[in-house]
Amino acid sequence: MLLSEFKPMEEILDFLKNDNKVFLLGCKGCAESSGTGGMADVKEMKVKLEAEGKEVTGFTTVDFLCQKTLIKSRLAPLTDQVMAADSVLVASCGIGVQASASSINKYCRPLCNTISLGDQRGKWVSFERCRECGDCVLDYTGGICPITKCSKSLLNGACGGASKGKCEVTPEMDCGWELIYKRLKELNQLDKLKVYIPPKDYAKFHVPSKLINSTLYDIEFTEEGGA
Ligand code: SF4
Ligand code: SF4
Repeated sequence: MLLSEFKPMEEILDFLKNDNKVFLLGCKGCAESSGTGGMADVKEMKVKLEAEGKEVTGFTTVDFLCQKTLIKSRLAPLTDQVMAADSVLVASCGIGVQASASSINKYCRPLCNTISLGDQRGKWVSFERCRECGDCVLDYTGGICPITKCSKSLLNGACGGASKGKCEVTPEMDCGWELIYKRLKELNQLDKLKVYIPPKDYAKFHVPSKLINSTLYDIEFTEEGGA
């Protein structure tokens, strides 16, 4: 399970300064349990965005946003609503945003930060990974995580060492920053590369004390063979 919490509204509105129309996508898996991605949460966000003058072209939830087949099948009947939007706002953990961004031909923006649960998580067989950094930057990188897709976790890449699209540190891996460049180019968002992403607050990678003291953390830690 990955825990998520909504980003501050000011940050969300800052992402949306050039977007008037949005489509809202929630996750009924971990995010609903976190109070971020269920239908009630999505509808609440819709009201907030409309109060700020944004038009919501449509909204829905998917059982597990980490499942790309589910995303595609659920959104297929809603294609017109998705394509009428300037961007898709995704209420889920970082994996759900990455999976959505790779499945939808529209810019996907994170509504949430993924909070560390101490490296405890479910099994996930696809290629997206989230380090639960507590301050998601996927809005700047076309929905590709620079923390997990770049061997040096560079926030402002590329390092210049890639060869034929492969990472200089891990040659069997594609260079994450080349993937980011290609995704931004495809979506006509190369200006994002001009935005400087400041250093991370690494305190946010740690498990919040409020979670360590919770039953949830105890269950996750025990299930994964911990204490
Ligand atoms: S930037 Fe990457 S590690 Fe941080 S929350 Fe987003 S997906 Fe997860
Ligand atoms: S080659 Fe690409 S993925 Fe590898 S460390 Fe450099 S920027 Fe990161």
